[in-house]
Amino acid sequence: VPELPEAETIAAELRSQIEGASIAGVEVVHPDVLEESPETLAQGLTGRTIRQVTRRGKNVVLVLDDDARLVVNLGMSGRLLHRRIRDPDPPPTHPAVRFRLEGENRDSATDPGVLVYHDIRRFGRLRLLDRQGYGTWSRSLGPEPLSRAFTARRLLRDLARSVSPIRSWLLDQRRIAGVGNIYANEALHRAGIHPVTSAARIPADRIPRLHRSLRRVLREAVRSRGTTLRDYRTAGGDEGSYAVRLRVYGRAGETCARCGAVIRRIVFGARSAFLCPRCQPEPPEKSES
Ligand SMILES: [Zn+2]
Repeated sequence: VPELPEAETIAAELRSQIEGASIAGVEVVHPDVLEESPETLAQGLTGRTIRQVTRRGKNVVLVLDDDARLVVNLGMSGRLLHRRIRDPDPPPTHPAVRFRLEGENRDSATDPGVLVYHDIRRFGRLRLLDRQGYGTWSRSLGPEPLSRAFTARRLLRDLARSVSPIRSWLLDQRRIAGVGNIYANEALHRAGIHPVTSAARIPADRIPRLHRSLRRVLREAVRSRGTTLRDYRTAGGDEGSYAVRLRVYGRAGETCARCGAVIRRIVFGARSAFLCPRCQPEPPEKSES
């Protein structure tokens, strides 16, 4: 499932390939991934120039020359693939939307190519937002964990307001943007915090460690171009290489690299959590006081 590092990798790759190109045509194969009708999307995008490719949370954002934004949420298995017209590789197997590009771009003056939104399971969503709509949407999300605004002090303040289990808190995009189950589990292991611990009950002196772990895990994963367990691919169609560096996620029954205890899988909030029972002791029962 694409999270911040995967969206960041895709956005960074697309930046050099499609910024400055124009959208010559939109072909919708599966309208169920669209928030609006295929006609509205095509009308809003055709003839527009892609001014910038960026990211917000787990979403890849194309900024257009009229200040509208195409927000791409990759869902479970979405890919944004950039292909040249004369690409020797076989065409994508599950295209949902194709954006035909034209015009000058520093890397692709002769063959701007096609941007393909590819999605096997089609839980992804594409939406076209005007400047104001984008602002409203963006403000509904929490801070970017790799931004300067996201400080340990802010994390302490925000956690203190919630009794949610910390793993659920980290997955809530309104509280912090871009973190999903893989990196939440990895960060909690490194911080030595059990996933069911109530956010407000994490000792204050643990918060800087959680803050550091979260940023470190996300940065390392960006450097590895994300985690491919199954569906995720970069914009060029490559796999990310962070999977081998995961310490707990998907590793139930293996030993903890730090202490040698056996990694456990538990399920709550309808999702798996992975933890080392020694590095991440269960929180004490809430005392009645
Ligand atoms: Zn351990």
